[in-house]
Amino acid sequence: MGELSNCSQCNGLFVKTTKDICPNCVKEEEKAFRTVYDFLKIRMNRQATIVEIVEATGVEERLIIKFVKEQRLRPSQFPNLTYPCQRCGSEINEGNLCSDCSKELATDLKNQDVYNDLAKRKAEEEKRKANTYYSIKRQN
Ligand SMILES: [Zn+2]
Ligand SMILES: [Zn+2]
Repeated sequence: MGELSNCSQCNGLFVKTTKDICPNCVKEEEKAFRTVYDFLKIRMNRQATIVEIVEATGVEERLIIKFVKEQRLRPSQFPNLTYPCQRCGSEINEGNLCSDCSKELATDLKNQDVYNDLAKRKAEEEKRKANTYYSIKRQN
């Protein structure tokens, strides 16, 4: 018996595989992918945007974005498959953030690290002071 896990899509229990969704949802997702892919295979649909695909196929936007993120639908083939950056909303076709936001976040994280280091050092110093005080007091 494998390990049981909750499907991240329908929340049903299933025996854990390499995927985080259950076999039923995998099947549904494959069907959705086929639908989207068949739609995009038609030459005049190649330039379709995600919104247009949702309208034409009825497949959920979230799923189409997932396919793009998984690189199953390649931006090189379908140039208009873009979705908004999670931070600033500009159009992107890979990852969760646009390149500007990832750069900014990276800098922020570095600053955060420096700040954390300072805070840690200060806390340690305080502790040392407190300890010194404590041992002096005990000696008396
Ligand atoms: Zn499921
Ligand atoms: Zn952004």
